[in-house]
Amino acid sequence: MGGKSEVPLLDKNGKRIDGRDLEELRPVKMEVGVLKKADGSAYVEWGGNKVIAAVYGPREVLPKHLANPYKAVLKYRYNMAPFSVDDRKRPGPDRRSIEISKISREALERVVMLEYFPNTMIDVFVEILQADAGTRCAALTAASLALADAGIPMRDVVAACAAGKIDGKVVLDLKKEEDNYGEADMPIAISPRTGEIVLFQMDGLMTKDEYMKALRLAVEGARKINEIQKETLKDKYKITNLSGGDNNE
Ligand code: ADP
Repeated sequence: MGGKSEVPLLDKNGKRIDGRDLEELRPVKMEVGVLKKADGSAYVEWGGNKVIAAVYGPREVLPKHLANPYKAVLKYRYNMAPFSVDDRKRPGPDRRSIEISKISREALERVVMLEYFPNTMIDVFVEILQADAGTRCAALTAASLALADAGIPMRDVVAACAAGKIDGKVVLDLKKEEDNYGEADMPIAISPRTGEIVLFQMDGLMTKDEYMKALRLAVEGARKINEIQKETLKDKYKITNLSGGDNNE
């Protein structure tokens, strides 16, 4: 990321390498209740990203001294599987995954009603099975769905999306090559009901006008993602009502 790329990312018709328009999202698929053992879970496919999220809790705090008598402790672990990228990724936490876990936890702390569950812990695990840029957005989107699936009270369902700049143009939802060879990437997450931005990061350079346009695009993208989240949650309860049983069984 940085200077103008050697690799052309836009063709002569202004289409992107995967045929998308500048303001087009990659295809997105979501499902909830995919893991039996977890209290809540979700699977998200977003372009070339495949992400699974599992939520456990509220449950006993371990180690005990971390317990907070005023609210639940929220933990978030973002992890990339060694096979999720072209070159095998070294297993285990690294600086990048620790940073992503921290900012994603802080985003969710804005909406989860932690004060309802003092002296407990809510664990959110996200595994990246396949990565193609934008994994922190896909992960947070899946985590938020899994929290809703676990029935944990929230003020809102957080939705995320990135915008950025490639070949001098502001675009929505960068894929790997665009992230690698583009000029800027700006992942954000919103609380759609209030419009509050709960995560904001930026890598690369944009002018003020480009930045304003990218921010608008990313927020619109996150709102579209939120529509799919809502449909996915509604669908689960539609099936549950028809069968009369618990879809998680
Ligand atoms: P995000 O996935 O949220 O966009 P980055 O911008 O840090 O986060 O990473 C962009 C992409 O680069 C990832 O989605 C993944 O495809 C690739 N990538 C990240 N870390 C590694 C790694 N350790 N090894 C190989 N590829 C990686």
